[in-house]
Amino acid sequence: MVIIEVKGISKRYKKTAAVKSCDLQVASGNILALLGPSGSGKTTLLRLIAGFEKPDQGRIVINGRTVVDVDRSVWVPAEDRGVGMVFQDYALFPHLTVAQNVRFGLRNSDRAERRRRVEELLKLTELTHCAERYTHQLSGGQQQRVALARALAPRPGVVLLDEPFNGLDPDLRPQMRREVARILRHLGTAAVLVTHDQEEALGMADQVAVIRNGELQQVGTPEDIYYSPTTAFVANFVGQADFIPGRVLGSIIHTELGIFPCSAELPSGPAKLMIRHEAVTPKPAGVLATVEEREFLGGEILYRLRLPSGATIHLEQRQPAHWPLGHQVAVELNLPNVVVFPESGSKPEPH
Ligand code: ADP
Repeated sequence: MVIIEVKGISKRYKKTAAVKSCDLQVASGNILALLGPSGSGKTTLLRLIAGFEKPDQGRIVINGRTVVDVDRSVWVPAEDRGVGMVFQDYALFPHLTVAQNVRFGLRNSDRAERRRRVEELLKLTELTHCAERYTHQLSGGQQQRVALARALAPRPGVVLLDEPFNGLDPDLRPQMRREVARILRHLGTAAVLVTHDQEEALGMADQVAVIRNGELQQVGTPEDIYYSPTTAFVANFVGQADFIPGRVLGSIIHTELGIFPCSAELPSGPAKLMIRHEAVTPKPAGVLATVEEREFLGGEILYRLRLPSGATIHLEQRQPAHWPLGHQVAVELNLPNVVVFPESGSKPEPH
């Protein structure tokens, strides 16, 4: 069931078009990550859904209720939208204990219900043992769980998370991401997560919406976004991608590393083929690439290779084989799907 529907939403600040005609849908129990570089409009879009900003155009429906519709002059204020917020800095009340912080959102329910709900959320977020502590007595991860528990206490259908892992030690982030995703899925809450971290978006979300200059570039599952990016920007921003030159003829792209089937709808002529690092493997003989750089990453070595055309590609070697700089290695491509972008920069056609 669709819980959040954003239709043709735009927002301008004087000369800056921060959000341009965006459409999004989030189903119950799903996490949508809004992923983009700094200044791309992620926070503005989140604030428009929350009701902290008024759009210039478009409408938003939350849980079947229109909360803003510019054409029909509908406006529901933030506090009446049934939306929980988790902010980057957690925004906890320092003079209240953990339990009091969580109880804060439950002012309208009776005492017994409040106590029961606070206990339930402290248990869910594994904070029961900290209930009487003040926020300065907590670790970053615990503070974040309090912020989440407080946002979830009134049973919102929707939770909006604004870069919620930024304040955490990088070592703690993967565990907290799993923890937060587990809790949201357990409760069936629809969530929108703002992040500039592609690992976080791909790892946590059911759907990823990549935004650039206020425009949604692509919305899809993490696998769609990674393996079938529809623009060169998405290909570059999400995961590591190399591009080698090629020439499309009919439904085939010819490159120095072989020919590959591609969409017949691509215009014939110069094009570039997208290559993820893991698609490149060594082989006994063939086109030789020259090792230009090597980086030891622990479980693997990342090699930067230069092809005869001058294009560079990367290869992840998991074997202990050590190739010195200048070494020549024959390579082949094992592409799970062929993603080609016309040289003109027009629409690409994943095959
Ligand atoms: P992100 O969250 O992706 O970093 P933002 O949504 O914060 O991006 O900003 C998008 C654009 O809108 C930026 O160019 C930013 O400078 C501008 N912007 C955001 N908020 C305001 C504001 N209150 N007044 C003027 N410009 C703003």
